[in-house]
Amino acid sequence: MTMPSPPPSLPERDLLTGLRGPDSALRRIAQWQAPGGSIHALLLRINRFASFNMAFGTAAGDHALVEVATRLSRLMAGAPMCDRLVARVGGGTFLVAAQPCGREEWERLADELARQAGGPIADCNGGVLYLRPGIVLGRLEDGEPPVRLLGRLTHALEHADGRPGCPLLWADGALPAGGHSRRELEADLPGAIERGEIAVLFQPQFSAADGRLTGAEALARWRHPQLGLIGAETLFAVAGQSGYETALSRRIARLALEPAAGWPQPLGLSLNVTAADLAAADFLADLRAAIGGAGLAPERLTLEITEQSLVLDLDRSARQLGRLAELGVRLALDDFGAGFCNFRYLKVLPLHGLKLDRSMVEGIAEDPRDLAVLRGIVAMATALDLSVTAEGVETEAQRTAIAREGCATWQGFLGAPPLEGEAFARLAARSRVAPVG
Ligand code: C2E
Ligand code: CA
Ligand code: CA
Repeated sequence: MTMPSPPPSLPERDLLTGLRGPDSALRRIAQWQAPGGSIHALLLRINRFASFNMAFGTAAGDHALVEVATRLSRLMAGAPMCDRLVARVGGGTFLVAAQPCGREEWERLADELARQAGGPIADCNGGVLYLRPGIVLGRLEDGEPPVRLLGRLTHALEHADGRPGCPLLWADGALPAGGHSRRELEADLPGAIERGEIAVLFQPQFSAADGRLTGAEALARWRHPQLGLIGAETLFAVAGQSGYETALSRRIARLALEPAAGWPQPLGLSLNVTAADLAAADFLADLRAAIGGAGLAPERLTLEITEQSLVLDLDRSARQLGRLAELGVRLALDDFGAGFCNFRYLKVLPLHGLKLDRSMVEGIAEDPRDLAVLRGIVAMATALDLSVTAEGVETEAQRTAIAREGCATWQGFLGAPPLEGEAFARLAARSRVAPVG
């Protein structure tokens, strides 16, 4: 990694574009710094600028840089933040920063900057040139020296080289929640489902009493040919936006059910169910067909449902879940304790288990109040004949505590992260196994 810490002799202003140089930009950002502030920055790089210079000549390259600098400056001059700057920090690389600024706002601005830099540029011979910008976004942590943020951005930009389809990326690898690339993902998704880019990982679940393997939760991923692995939350947000949620869920169910049918008995499979799935008229028939097609005994399948999936119409959801229970599948209320818990759900829904959110498990080994809450929930669940699964178990102390308090099963990085299907099958083949719940 090349740390872009500039020698102190660099001029304050870049001679070609008139923008600040790197030294001046970093000093300015340091002046903005205040505890709790919200400084965002980005590096915009013209991809393959050296090749552009070779192909069109350095005069054309210089002309294009000046044009990009003008466009970025003009856009930032109209931006609503109190403080903002544009600097040139390398050949075809610009640093843009502003404060105060929220994450979403910064993404929107970055999207517009990418659009401006990628727009047509008239060349000296009456032709039109196009540059391909790539952007990495970041936020200055409290007390972080600005040069370190620049280092993080530079590092991320270098590693984004293999991802040409992604114009925007956060330095920590996150994809933007809004903006251009999100729209592209929405457009890509239907084809991705067809092309088999959706994959399912399996996170092992264990018996709290004796550590035996009880099954796995299926967790979806998108193996995007340009962007690499995209996580479940982004995937489902994109699917929700583009109306492909039920098609996606259907594909995931098939991808998960088939291998699960081949796991050693009595290992179980947990599938996540969305509000859109529950609302679909053919959900039940489709699931029944998928279970039958795979040949998995319905008792080995648990559907994980979140409260958000149920709130729209509780009576309708209860009827739908009743039919599912009649199929013989188990039902668990997922993310229990993460939001507002409506205890009525526990009374009216034909549930078999509760899945404690990670936030309920996090502090139990240290904080007596967290432990008291867990104890209360387990007591209530026991009285209602519900089995409790603890999620997000990361330490041995947490595992000991949830086992002592009566949770039936657990999953978390302490046991294993989500695994590829084959890796899970290997684990299952060499493990002692136990029934779910
Ligand atoms: P969830 O159902 O609560 O899934 C558990 C999430 O916690 C998973 O993230 C898992 O990788 C992560 N996790 C597991 N153990 C640990 C741990 O010890 N520590 C920490 N910090 N995290 C842990 P993932 O796979 O990114 O899924 C996020 C959410 O996306 C899921 O939350 C679920 O709501 C949704 N999702 C994932 N796959 C599917 C799917 O196939 N269908 C539907 N409808 N939703 C899905
Ligand atoms: Ca889940
Ligand atoms: Ca959960």
